[in-house]
Amino acid sequence: MKKKWKVAIVGRPNVGKSALFNRVIRQRLAIVDEMEGVTRDRLYANAEHYGRQFVAIDTGGIDTRSIAAFNDSIRRQAEIAILEADSIIMVVDATIGITEQDDLLAKALLKTQKPIVLAINKIDHPRDQQLAHNFYPLGIQEMIATSAEHGYQIAELIEKALAPLPDEEIEEDEDTVKVAIVGRPNVGKSTLVNSLLDEERCIVSPIPGTTRDAIDIAFTFDGSHYTLIDTAGIRRKKSEKEVVDKFAHLRTERSIERADICLLLLDVQEGITAQEKKILNDIEEAGKPCIILLNKWDLTEGKRMEHALKALDEEALFAKHCPKLAISALEKRNLGKIFPMIDDVLRQGAERVPTHQLNVFVEKAMQRNHPPMIQGKRLRIYYMTQISTSPPQFVLFVNRPDLMLEAYRKYLLNQFREIYPFPGYPLELLLRGKKVKKEHAEHEEEE
Ligand code: GDP
Repeated sequence: MKKKWKVAIVGRPNVGKSALFNRVIRQRLAIVDEMEGVTRDRLYANAEHYGRQFVAIDTGGIDTRSIAAFNDSIRRQAEIAILEADSIIMVVDATIGITEQDDLLAKALLKTQKPIVLAINKIDHPRDQQLAHNFYPLGIQEMIATSAEHGYQIAELIEKALAPLPDEEIEEDEDTVKVAIVGRPNVGKSTLVNSLLDEERCIVSPIPGTTRDAIDIAFTFDGSHYTLIDTAGIRRKKSEKEVVDKFAHLRTERSIERADICLLLLDVQEGITAQEKKILNDIEEAGKPCIILLNKWDLTEGKRMEHALKALDEEALFAKHCPKLAISALEKRNLGKIFPMIDDVLRQGAERVPTHQLNVFVEKAMQRNHPPMIQGKRLRIYYMTQISTSPPQFVLFVNRPDLMLEAYRKYLLNQFREIYPFPGYPLELLLRGKKVKKEHAEHEEEE
């Protein structure tokens, strides 16, 4: 399998990021030219450039309404690009020249070893080409004049962004399932890693570099291949743990990015805390599935497992869709059940729901509960389709995205989960309106 590289598009507001993003992905996926409902700070879309598939990341969703948020947003974008992207497109506005924020962002980006292309945007006319020269001081070597508005030099821009990335087979063994064990300190992560590797059915791969001290540990369990990733960080000694704690969050984020599935470990006596919520949020943002392991079960003598699981579901609705398993890492209880559960979650996440079934679902859900009227207008859903698997993603084609109320979206999602549970996966209903929205436009025109 070819590796799918990630290309992040960053830049301060109003330089034309979203318009450019739309141009970049429209080459393949015409339906994503207006995706609404992205409350998070980034949007991923599959794109293709002359047979090379890649993932475009739009960081334009970052809130930039206030000055503080503005600087924050620049920092966050740089962070996303540095952490996640394999190649970065930084967008600037040719008609304005270098601003302080451009400078700030460029400096942050240049610190990484990642390839960067500067898209000097809004060059809507060939005679404006020379404006590009104003941007040399940013220090980004690869530059190209573009017009997102007119679709000028978009293919050339993508070419430049992809060119430094080898078109090679993925180095990582694709047959192996990459598992990240995450959770706050002291819930038993390192105990779990050690216990898993001690299991009789677990055979640690004899390949050099996958010894027990390695960062990633490849092994087979009942004949299937798995890799526990970033275990070195997990298994640091207590004294070292404190020193590196500052980076714990970053490390977790990175592990999640690399993982096919995350095991969120918690201490059953403490239940789900704000920290688990935060980690689960990161997992969902990355589009990864999650299984929740309730560790230290041995300390809850006499407690009924169903009761504990049910209580947890009630206490933390946001985690209801995650399969849960009570284990004892210390006493090695239930550890053998983890892997069949992983396989099951991944298998279901790879399933595709036929469009006609989705449309029957939409029709029934709308009949049971009509979308509310808003100022004399009612949301209409024309059809629903699945745009990806693993993670499963769905788009609703509607008359006007702004007529979708949060409550109605939740209703649809809940109904959807009842029929198509996709256990462990974050699900979202993306919206697509009839018209292409202008960048930063508050509302669409009337129908
Ligand atoms: P980490 O920080 O998440 O890696 O947590 P550790 O693996 O270092 O575990 C923290 C403490 O919890 C240690 O004292 C472990 O012995 C203990 N612990 C881990 N798993 C269990 C378990 O299943 N049952 C009990 N009783 N204690 C556990």
